[in-house]
Amino acid sequence: MADSSKTYRGRFAPSPTGPLHFGSMVAAVGGFLQAKSHGGEWRVRMEDLDPPREVPGAADDILRTLEACGLHWDGAVMYQSRRHKAYAAALKTLDRLDAIYPCACSRREIADSSMKGIDGPVYPGTCRKGIAAGREARAWRVKVGGAAVEFDDGLQGRQRRDLAADFGDFVLRRADGLFAYQLAVVVDDAEQGITEVVRGADLIESTPRQIHLQRLLNLPTPDYLHLPVALNARGEKFSKQTFAAPVDVERPWQLLIQVLQFLGQAPPVDLAEANIGDFWRWAIAHWRLDRIPRVMGVVVETPGVDSA
Ligand code: GLU
Repeated sequence: MADSSKTYRGRFAPSPTGPLHFGSMVAAVGGFLQAKSHGGEWRVRMEDLDPPREVPGAADDILRTLEACGLHWDGAVMYQSRRHKAYAAALKTLDRLDAIYPCACSRREIADSSMKGIDGPVYPGTCRKGIAAGREARAWRVKVGGAAVEFDDGLQGRQRRDLAADFGDFVLRRADGLFAYQLAVVVDDAEQGITEVVRGADLIESTPRQIHLQRLLNLPTPDYLHLPVALNARGEKFSKQTFAAPVDVERPWQLLIQVLQFLGQAPPVDLAEANIGDFWRWAIAHWRLDRIPRVMGVVVETPGVDSA
């Protein structure tokens, strides 16, 4: 559990793979309101860790959109692309603890030999005792051992996962040499002194793995709160692939009000006419966690589309 005597510090950690849309705005607004209603700080971390998936200009576009919406962050933006030394150091610490090992398996081999887990195939542990002769190390994996991880989610309640059965030894450094999200997020949440992680429920299965890494690296475990994710009529998460409309920075009000409604808040009709300062003053003062639907996903018909 996070130390409650510490100042609240939250964060928003977008990946610059495209512009912000309704789904990502839910995480931004929910995190911002949770931080500000606690009198805390709200940090932004650009998760630009995976250049092949990134869209040029998307990071700046995301920051401009947050500003246009009045979602002002505290301190300097952290860029994961500038943090490779810290991730390498964490990997080295884990190596010294004998907690990681190189893995020579290809995606195909893993797919053919593994059981299906909660979030992809469960690695069968082929290389845990060493790489077979003639094979070359590709990725680095962390041993999960037999431990179960439990945590109390601020919205979704008590969670328990069996790391070995549900995920298996997972990748911290990928075959292409890039550091994995699970490693970077743990190192950075600690570096930024995050006390509560607020994000979409699509990431709830990452949390037990992140807690495992925090324990190995002797880092504090923040509190976690996973918001429902916005689903389209087909039950899919909003993303570029499902053509989620980007935020209209000239007229963000309609969308911000829809996001508040999605999160169960009850904005008055005239809030759309408020200036940006009054809008957030109302939203912060009236933020009620107990009004957020305690579910993993909610279907939204046409988010961000002005019906007028
Ligand atoms: N970068 C991740 C995303 O955009 C979020 C990671 C996190 O909040 O831990 O989905």
